[in-house]
Amino acid sequence: NRESITHFPRPVNQAVGRIPVSIGGKRRRVVVTGGSGFVGSHLVDKLIARGDDVIVIDNFFTGRKENVMHHFSNPRFELIRHDVVEPILLEVDQIYHLACPASPVHYKYNPFRNYWDYKTNVMGTLNMLGLAKRIGARFLLTSTSEVYGDPLEHPQKETYWGHVNPIGVRSCYDEGKRTAETLTMDYHRGDDVEVRIARIFNTYGPRMCLDDGRVVSNFVSQAIRKQPMTVYGDGKQTRSFQYVSDLVDGLMALMEGEHIGPFNLGNPGEFTMLELAQVVKETVDPSATIEFRENTADDPQKRKPDISKAKNMLNWEPKITLREGLPLMAADFRNRILNEDEGKVG
Ligand code: NAD
Ligand code: UDP
Ligand code: UDP
Repeated sequence: NRESITHFPRPVNQAVGRIPVSIGGKRRRVVVTGGSGFVGSHLVDKLIARGDDVIVIDNFFTGRKENVMHHFSNPRFELIRHDVVEPILLEVDQIYHLACPASPVHYKYNPFRNYWDYKTNVMGTLNMLGLAKRIGARFLLTSTSEVYGDPLEHPQKETYWGHVNPIGVRSCYDEGKRTAETLTMDYHRGDDVEVRIARIFNTYGPRMCLDDGRVVSNFVSQAIRKQPMTVYGDGKQTRSFQYVSDLVDGLMALMEGEHIGPFNLGNPGEFTMLELAQVVKETVDPSATIEFRENTADDPQKRKPDISKAKNMLNWEPKITLREGLPLMAADFRNRILNEDEGKVG
């Protein structure tokens, strides 16, 4: 039944050829890998709101069922617990590939698991590209600004090839995503798979993991818990912070548009970590304090996207400033921290 979304009980390696999946005026069938994570769950909300059938594939490594639970009673939504490192058979029109252990706690501070990050990026992407090839689906890779490494060009354009340490603590992530981009372009050139590549810059918003080690989630949860905000190094390194709804709009514009990319998707507003701490103080808790900690290795000193390509070709640009977005994220964090504390008391 081609109307319904089904698993095929067929051995994966059996040659089945390319099965064209035409939308034919019907609603789209979309897979979101990593769809119970931070970005993925916001993307799922918007796809469901648009009227798509959505399948989330997630192994819950960093994602949470709570992020997508509000769709459980919707027959157009399906959640599959599955690790993308393993093959899977589905019939869909579009694949948004987000599955990846993306937070620094999981790749910088846990070296024993680092190979897993690389494996997910390589084997997970390969499997999703193999799936896209078999069913003729359009595939979108969520790559990262980390492919630029510690950039020698500023701001970064998509033409910059990057400055990455291939044997450092971050390389499982950086090089993993670079390889994922390579695979994506090879499937496009060699097998005619329709592909899209987004290079995402630091993004924040509701549903981020409370303690995932990324700077915005750390500062906001520290401010709410009345703990000092931990500034690494001298705090003069810069990042550009994008609110999650802007990113979701960009990802969907890219998927629906005619251009492969890569496209930088980020907010060009650039802040030092000390400035970020100041904005958190102003918007979340005026009594917040800071404390300096030693920085981690290979920390990029500057990062800011040049988004002219996305502006011109996708007609996309971010709308939400850091001062507008932080309070929206803080409201969600306050609720969750309160619930956690109540849970402890209970
Ligand atoms: P996240 O950790 O919240 O989401 C990742 C999701 O992937 C989680 O739900 C996790 O359980 C799932 N996952 C991980 N490994 C998997 C596997 N092997 N099989 C199935 N599911 C798996 O992170 P996020 O911030 O939502 O990131 C989403 C994507 O965007 C990632 O690919 C990330 O690299 C990319 N990205 C994010 C940012 C950012 O600032 N948030 C920046 C650049 C790139
Ligand atoms: N794959 C998958 N689902 C599919 C088709 C392929 O998970 O519907 C996986 C497959 O198991 C393989 C990978 O995608 O590991 C790459 O598939 P491809 O057909 O490109 O390569 P091959 O199987 O010939 O190595
Ligand atoms: N950082 C910080 N305090 C924290 C966490 C991170 O000062 O509690 C710094 C970190 O050293 C880096 C920047 O914030 O310079 C962004 O770090 P994050 O891990 O959020 O993202 P990425 O380095 O991947 O851009």
